[in-house]
Amino acid sequence: MRFRYDPEIEAFREEVRQFIREHLPPEEERLRRGFEGGFRSPEEEKAYVMGFQRKLAERGWLAMAWPKEYGGGGASHMKQLVYNEEMAYAQAPVGNMGIAWVGPSLMLYGTEEQKRTFIPRIAQAQDWWCTLYSEPGAGSDLAALQTRAVRDGDDYVINGQKIWTSGGHLADWGWLAARTDPDAPKHKGITMFMVNMKSPGITVRPLINMANRHGFNEVFFEDVRVPATQVVGEVNRGWYHMAVALDFERSGIQAFAGGRRSVERLVALAKERPELVRRRPSIRHELADRAVEVNVGTFLAYRVATMQARGLVPNTEASASKLFGSEMSQRIALTGMHLLGMAGQLRDGSPYMVIDQATGYLQAVSATIAAGTSEIQRGIIATRGLGLPRG
Ligand SMILES: Cc1cc2nc3c(=O)[nH]c(=O)nc-3n(C[C@H](O)[C@H](O)[C@H](O)COP(=O)(O)OP(=O)(O)OC[C@H]3O[C@@H](n4cnc5c(N)ncnc54)[C@H](O)[C@@H]3O)c2cc1C
Repeated sequence: MRFRYDPEIEAFREEVRQFIREHLPPEEERLRRGFEGGFRSPEEEKAYVMGFQRKLAERGWLAMAWPKEYGGGGASHMKQLVYNEEMAYAQAPVGNMGIAWVGPSLMLYGTEEQKRTFIPRIAQAQDWWCTLYSEPGAGSDLAALQTRAVRDGDDYVINGQKIWTSGGHLADWGWLAARTDPDAPKHKGITMFMVNMKSPGITVRPLINMANRHGFNEVFFEDVRVPATQVVGEVNRGWYHMAVALDFERSGIQAFAGGRRSVERLVALAKERPELVRRRPSIRHELADRAVEVNVGTFLAYRVATMQARGLVPNTEASASKLFGSEMSQRIALTGMHLLGMAGQLRDGSPYMVIDQATGYLQAVSATIAAGTSEIQRGIIATRGLGLPRG
């Protein structure tokens, strides 16, 4: 089956490609400098990401999914899909938790004052936001979180520990879930807060992942005072607000568009260096399998987007897309290692390195854990999609 978009959408796609050519450093330079996590300092990373996102904001694209009344672009689902597809294909730094769920949550539950103060800043990429949900004893079972928030006059006082906080070391603001009623059933005593990450009592400690990259952190709260005006939504109803915010997270095209580019790079390498294929002839089939998977996954993501465009709420479909996309990205990374053989293990500027496949391979491990593990996605598909009984 051949999919074709309206000419207007195709013209927009060309506009996005042109923007990327003008504003992102060439791909070769980005790969050489290890832009997918190999910055010389956190400041350099923040300046690169925020600089690009501010250019997107000037163009009215950063918040293109938001309604116009909040400074967004009010773009159709198809336009967003094409935008996301092109940005992910170019592996552009567009990830922004403020845009993805803080802003949309404020639109639903925020006070007028919160909307006026925070939404324009988010839409203009003025602040870097991190998400403070997971704890050492609360990941998949997020409602088990123990970080406490106790009312004291006009403030809440926060104590506890968060973990795996992506970009916590770069963040200006944190989107925090904390327990406000320890006696209520676990889903009913949680409240959402916006926390200034420079507040006294917050300690951010780096966690270096197995690829030797600093992406996530541990965040400790010791008597951190947060004004009660920074509670979002109703006190003790945070779980329900969070569940809506998590739904903003799962769309899916990014894994497939980024995966398509990775497969193309591997195919180009196989053509450039036929000795790699002679050494392992089965690599042809492997590369073909990956190319087919990228297409299958793209259709899964189109399905999610077209459901949204028709006003439906994809649930098991979004889980299937997340599951397939994250496992596929690991298979692509493994195929790259098979193609390169022993040389695939060389990284971080080794003079004999062909491409830095090892970093991509190690980074891919977390794909099936972040944003809900594969087991959790399979559970959703089994119970909500297939109607199987809960175990
Ligand atoms: C790269 C990355 C970035 C992240 N960024 C953030 C962030 O910015 N902010 C944040 O708050 N968190 C973040 N996380 C944390 C992430 O949300 C959790 O790691 C994830 O939800 C899993 O929780 P856990 O690590 O506690 O594992 P657990 O929940 O302890 O799971 C351990 C194992 O048990 C399995 N398991 C658990 N429950 C079930 C079940 N009901 N049925 C079947 N199997 C089950 C899991 O699938 C897994 O294999 C990030 C994680 C990664 C890897």
